[in-house]
Amino acid sequence: MFRLIHRDKKTGARAGRLYTRHGIVDTPAFMPVATKAGVKTLSSEEVLETKAQAIIANALLLYLKPGVEAVEEAGGLHGFMHWPRVIFTDSGGFQVLRKGLFQGVSKRGITFRSPFDESRHLFTPALCAEVQARLGSDVAMALDDCPPYGTGQEAAGKAVARTARWAEEFKASDRGELFAIVQGGVYRDLREESARGLVEIGFDGYGIGGLSIGEPKAVMFRVLEETVPLLPEGKPRYLMGVGSPRELLRAIALGIDIFDSAFPTRNARHNAAYTWSGRLNLSKGRYSRDRQPIERGCRCGACRNYSRAYINHLLKVQEGLGMRLVTIHNLTFFQELMEGAREAILRDGFREFELAVLEGGHGVEPQDGHPQKEEGGPQGEEPDE
Ligand SMILES: [Zn+2]
Repeated sequence: MFRLIHRDKKTGARAGRLYTRHGIVDTPAFMPVATKAGVKTLSSEEVLETKAQAIIANALLLYLKPGVEAVEEAGGLHGFMHWPRVIFTDSGGFQVLRKGLFQGVSKRGITFRSPFDESRHLFTPALCAEVQARLGSDVAMALDDCPPYGTGQEAAGKAVARTARWAEEFKASDRGELFAIVQGGVYRDLREESARGLVEIGFDGYGIGGLSIGEPKAVMFRVLEETVPLLPEGKPRYLMGVGSPRELLRAIALGIDIFDSAFPTRNARHNAAYTWSGRLNLSKGRYSRDRQPIERGCRCGACRNYSRAYINHLLKVQEGLGMRLVTIHNLTFFQELMEGAREAILRDGFREFELAVLEGGHGVEPQDGHPQKEEGGPQGEEPDE
């Protein structure tokens, strides 16, 4: 299912290939977020044009609305969304926590209340596997217990044990390609326990969860440095919910293969465009007469057809097209970033590539707070994505 193609000689970066029923994902790869079966503001055709190879949807939210039967009748998520390529589905534990729907966790699973009608539900590992299989997802994520940042070691340890038990039940469901999610908070020994336990059960790939949920970036990278070496070389590693261009490159250098994040789409809706020379706030007055595209030479439809001045105008008068065009550009930029990383890895030049991107304008840590919020940020003001 996963083939490691090349390891960069100077860093831990890898180029690989993930094979699924709906085609190939070349790694490192970035997946746009389609939590409720839609990438915010774009059609599936527009997402395809950005050259995204895979998207990720949320099984639990789709189970609640429109319901598994409705998606199944439409030919699974692929038919429902008219998306021909790869679909990952997240189990949903993380969303429950993030949206404040969480009601309790037990040996059996997670209890939560529906945001749509307040009804109560119990999500078990077996139900989670069944839902993802019926949605027709290509890669299903195991149900995990993801406690918030700041959870003490004892409670985080219980979450690790629960995640392992659920992973075993999830695996027993034997439904297609399954990834497990390593938890353990910021505790080195718990991350180790979690990774070892899941690797012993044996999965097709491993997510690293419970990061980018409010901890300082230095802590996140320390945990990554400690966790990645515990995962098998021959399996894909997926860092969930990260992040900015700078963070993606740093994580690739540590050996991460797959990412998803609302970063490019959410920031697009806050007027921020990502380019090779850094981030532009396109709502600023200085762009009001700027006839250049967002980025010269960019292959995206926004840059081929529209000027910064026009997009600036749309943003200022709050025409939805403005956000759509910036979203198209940002997702294209993130795909180009991954393409650049892959090419660099194949010629053993990842370190130089990373340095060039940072020097180009991505060398500064994203500021805390508005508008650079990431998927999973506890202060995110748009919890729907
Ligand atoms: Zn563009």
